[in-house]
Amino acid sequence: MTDATPTCSLIRGDGIGPEIADATLRVLDAAGAKVKWEEVPAGLAAVETDRDPLPPRTTESISRNRLALKGPLGTPIGSGFRSVNVALRQQYDLYANVRPVITFEGVPSHYSNVDLVIVRENTEDLYAGVEHYVDQRRNAAESIAIITRFGSMRIAEYAFEYARRHGRKKVAVVHKANILKLSNGLFLECAREVAKKFPEIIVEEVIVDAACMKLVIDPTKFDVIVTMNLFGDIISDLTAGLVGGLGMAPAANIGVDAAIFEAVHGTAPDIVGKGLANPTALTLSAALMLDYLHQDAAAARLRKGVHAALRSPVARTRDLGGQGTTMQYTDAIIRAMDE
Ligand code: NAD
Repeated sequence: MTDATPTCSLIRGDGIGPEIADATLRVLDAAGAKVKWEEVPAGLAAVETDRDPLPPRTTESISRNRLALKGPLGTPIGSGFRSVNVALRQQYDLYANVRPVITFEGVPSHYSNVDLVIVRENTEDLYAGVEHYVDQRRNAAESIAIITRFGSMRIAEYAFEYARRHGRKKVAVVHKANILKLSNGLFLECAREVAKKFPEIIVEEVIVDAACMKLVIDPTKFDVIVTMNLFGDIISDLTAGLVGGLGMAPAANIGVDAAIFEAVHGTAPDIVGKGLANPTALTLSAALMLDYLHQDAAAARLRKGVHAALRSPVARTRDLGGQGTTMQYTDAIIRAMDE
């Protein structure tokens, strides 16, 4: 008999990573998720154990499983090794970064009824890693944004397909083609071409600065947003802030035959080991993983628990105005699954 339980590479991550990963594993177990775990190191933790932020045993595991759940990884700013997050996305060609942004009852935020999804191109743009000093004295530097027709077509296809599959009505194409006429112009041209195949979906073209202003004024006007790598990165933190902060923002990195699920936030070095870490973002990323694996009942149970725990001021964590520690909040999620 074949064993249908998928194996997932687990990277607990740096900073608060291990705390929120433990919480998420407990929640997944209680939700009835069928997943076998293969734990591997990356980031600063891997520099200590393997002298390499992305050791071969980690990439071998992900190459084998084509599936990973990942806590945040520390990246030195301005110097040191290149972001492991970016390297993983490029190595497995995880071209679509999908970030749902919704309001939760009980979580303090400026809005209610936000329900939008950001589809960010994940492999190109300024994140392609093409950077160099222009002169030997290092008085000028260049970072090159690479935008290709291939990359733009496939992210637009993904976003419009996503909208169709999920019964969404509108796709906003966010760009800066008025200034970056060639690179962003190409992206916009591709999105327009793809949009023709989805006549039932309303298309809006929004310049990125105006998009930020409109999101802050009324995010409920947005449905699906498709954009390039840098704008997508910035806009997803902005929208996370609109619905209660980074602790609430999950993400899926999807490729043709591999996927890595992770929280949007970083390692939160200021709160490590204090019981203050909010595991919701990673837990909801794990729910996206269950969707991907078609484990719908477990995904629904997990979300039911999270929604209920967030409604309780005693249970939810302090970044959300509650009193709960990471552990107490996790217990509340698990209890609420059966209520
Ligand atoms: P951060 O997201 O780690 O923290 C920003 C603020 O949000 C901090 O005050 C932090 O305490 C708070 N916060 C974040 N997540 C939280 C949570 N789950 N619960 C409660 N509060 C939370 O951003 P930063 O400080 O700019 O970055 C720290 C490190 O993380 C850097 O090395 C950066 O490169 C890395 N980083 C990694 C990822 C990733 O692995 N995907 C993403 C962003 C940043």
